Amino acid sequence: MAVQPYDPENIFAKILRGEIPCTKVYEDDHVLAFNDIAPQAPTHVLVIPKGAYTSYDDFAQNASDAEIVAYTRAIGKISKEAGVVEDGYRLIANTREHGRQDVPHLHVHILGGEKLPRMLP
Ligand code: 5GP
Repeated sequence: MAVQPYDPENIFAKILRGEIPCTKVYEDDHVLAFNDIAPQAPTHVLVIPKGAYTSYDDFAQNASDAEIVAYTRAIGKISKEAGVVEDGYRLIANTREHGRQDVPHLHVHILGGEKLPRMLP
């Protein structure tokens, strides 16, 4: 399956380069997390790897073990720090056209802080 080439002008690449501001909630060597500009729930955080990966499958195939471990652990840590773990939350990684991914840099949405609507099957 062909994966689209990484576009260095996507919005999250610009946020990573500091060209667009964000409200940062977490950062380490491999990961940046910030609040979504149009929150869909009381907690709506976007977690991105610092590496240039378009989507989850690109990341899973091409990222180093260190990047994958850092990203996975960061999502857990940020969820905990956001205070959504006890009552529950939702992780979403919209992927390409059918998944309605708007920004072509891998991002996981952390949504919580209220009882979320059921997802359609
Ligand atoms: P997607 O549809 O690609 O899964 O989600 C992209 C998300 O990025 C959307 O929830 C949208 O609100 C958010 N977003 C788009 N532009 C910006 C921006 O400039 N700053 C921040 N913080 N979020 C953005």
